[in-house]
Amino acid sequence: MKAILQDLNYQQIEDLVLRLGEKKFRAKQLYDGLMQGKRISEINLSKELRGKLLDEFEDCPIEIIKTLISADGTEKYLFRLADGNIIEGVFMRYKYGNTQCVSTQVGCRMGCKFCASTLGGRVRDLTSGEILSQVLVVNAKHKEGTKRGVTNIVLMGSGEPLDNYQNVVTFLRNVSQEGGINISPRNISLSTCGLVDKMYDLAEEGLPINLTVSLHSTTDSERARTMPVANKWKIAEILKACENYFKVTGRRYIFEYALIAGENCDSRHAEELINLLKGKPCHVNLIRLNEVKERSLMAAEEKQAYTFLSLLQKGGLSATLRRRTGADVGGACGQLRASYAQEQENNDN
Ligand code: SAH
Repeated sequence: MKAILQDLNYQQIEDLVLRLGEKKFRAKQLYDGLMQGKRISEINLSKELRGKLLDEFEDCPIEIIKTLISADGTEKYLFRLADGNIIEGVFMRYKYGNTQCVSTQVGCRMGCKFCASTLGGRVRDLTSGEILSQVLVVNAKHKEGTKRGVTNIVLMGSGEPLDNYQNVVTFLRNVSQEGGINISPRNISLSTCGLVDKMYDLAEEGLPINLTVSLHSTTDSERARTMPVANKWKIAEILKACENYFKVTGRRYIFEYALIAGENCDSRHAEELINLLKGKPCHVNLIRLNEVKERSLMAAEEKQAYTFLSLLQKGGLSATLRRRTGADVGGACGQLRASYAQEQENNDN
């Protein structure tokens, strides 16, 4: 695989253009084209410069190979990377703007029992430019004139963002760079299964992004049943790291809590969750589990989900039950890629 131009920030593009013996102003043309989601071969450049760039860099680091459109307007994409690996992403429309969910790794090695992304383990990390390119191509698809197509980003696709720390931080800087696609860090949420040491590092980056932690249980032993990472980091350590994040960045934090039938959503769990989180500057995002066909875990009934929600709210927590967008077009994280892989296998046999 060749290098990827989208890995470079503006300064680095300028250095490259100068190294290739071109005038400095070419850097802006090139950078603007890239930020508009164009391939090198589509950007208005001299033939000579284009040739030099194509010798060294991938023309198209990422390509949408399949789009599924849900009745609620949600779009799911399968992307093919330059080395043939497949990742997926989601585009959701809300009143306040359009949110894109990006992947940070091909596969994942965290091993959560309810998640399809981790079924085949981690294949590789994505580069910062591969993460950015997901945003650039989807933004290009949805932008209207000068109005951005993507206004918000969540790092909640396949992969554990803090397990690919440096590339993810570079992505966060480049996607929020002025003069680029310039999405405000305040409109970006990073979700982690709770890699505590990296949560402390993230607080020091000077990036006021929203931090989301996948909690899904109220005790360490129960959490370890579905999330192997619980054997490494305790809930108490996660809560301390969240408090530190708030202290350093001033940002409230969010907990994801997927309601799994018979596992984590009776009144005892509601009580424990209230005891853990009461008075903290946080929000709880409930979601009924998206059932993954390779896994035996089942979603809580809708009625039970609303009962759980009202217990949390009565207990003084800020909590909402998230609607399951796009459930008709491919369900949970990683399912699309997994079913694509299965299809390819069936075709080959
Ligand atoms: N690795 C990161 C981000 C990716 S997953 C993390 O663990 O947070 C984004 C969110 O979807 C996480 O909260 C994850 O726990 C949740 N998730 C994964 N599979 C799910 C499923 N089948 N149903 C509901 N939520 C799921």
